[in-house]
Formats: sequence, C-alpha cells, structure tokens
Amino acid sequence: MATTHALYGMAAGAVTLATVPEYAPVAMLVGYVAGFLPDLDAYAEHRRTLHFPVYFSVLAVPATLLAALWPTLASVSLATALVALAAHSVMDAGGGGLSLRPWVEQPDRAVYSHYHGRWVAPRRFVAYDGAPSDLVLALAAGLPLLAVTAGSVRLLVVATLVFSGVYVLVRKRLVEIVTVAIRYTPRRLLVLVPRRFDELVDGE
Ligand SMILES: [Zn+2]
Repeated sequence: MATTHALYGMAAGAVTLATVPEYAPVAMLVGYVAGFLPDLDAYAEHRRTLHFPVYFSVLAVPATLLAALWPTLASVSLATALVALAAHSVMDAGGGGLSLRPWVEQPDRAVYSHYHGRWVAPRRFVAYDGAPSDLVLALAAGLPLLAVTAGSVRLLVVATLVFSGVYVLVRKRLVEIVTVAIRYTPRRLLVLVPRRFDELVDGE
C-alpha cells in the first residue's frame, strides 16, 4: 500500500542519520513523498505511468554513489528520492497485482516494466495491498523510524501507521466504501476519483 512505500522511502532517507544528520529531516521527508509518489498514477494508468522498476533502479545507483562521495542537500535528496521511487516500483512486483479485489481475481499484472515493454507478474509475497502482512511490512519500517525521529516527523510516522491500520481493516470493503462515496459525490467532482475506480464510477 502507498503508506508502506512512504515509510520505506522515509527509511531510505533515515540512512543519512548515520552519515550527514544535518540533512536527515529533509532527506526523510523527500523519501516519504517519493515513496508514495508513483501511486499518483492511480489517476492515469495505475502502476505504469509513474512506475519504472528498472529505470529508477539504474538511476539510483550513480545517484547514491554521488551522494556518498559528495554529500550535499541536493545530492542526498536526489539519491533518496530515486532509491524510494525504485524501491516502490520494485516492491509492487511482490504484491498481489493490479485489481480492486486481488484476493478474488488473482490478477496477472503487478507493475509495468518500461524497459522490458511488458507487465511484471505479481509474486504475492504480500497477498494484496492492504493485507495484514502489508501492515507487518509497514511496522517493520515504521517502528524503527519512531525510535530515530522526533517532533513533527515522528507525528507523521504515527499518523501513517494509524492510517495503514485503518486501511488494512477496511481493505476488503474498499469497493463498497468507494461505491457509496461515489454515489454521494457531486457529478462535477467525480474527476477527483482515481481512474483505478473507473469501473465503479461507470457502474453508477
Ligand atoms: Zn505502486
């Protein structure tokens, strides 16, 4: 789920605590935002438009080397962003695939590889986005982050973990919840509904 990705992006930024702690707060926030950023393509072609598992990974290597050899706020932020973007795109292949009900439909598309020109099949290490194991994954990043953060950054981690827990609780009812929400959304505001829910909008 997007919040798990955000926490892993933040964890990538937290590496700077050991090397250049003065950049850590910015790096952690950059990692957090870059961690969930690819999922904004839920408004375009989900898991394809902003997901680049190969290209982000390839770019992350020289960016990380550059940041290690020449750490500035810009180089560290760039490296963190690319690592977070790459980790998100690659981790999506470990999930249950692209579907509103992946536990029923067993989809065969997890994430699109622009390099290979095809969809990567879901590995199902995590059964689906919002599965209990997804929350375990979020906690594995979130709990250590709670230990090393303070103030508003720590509050962001807490809020993200709480949101993750709620999402996991309601995930299997998401289709019903979004269907009801769409019913009460004024027609001109329906553009705000991500395109991955198109089938529900069309059903109205
Ligand atoms: Zn994604």
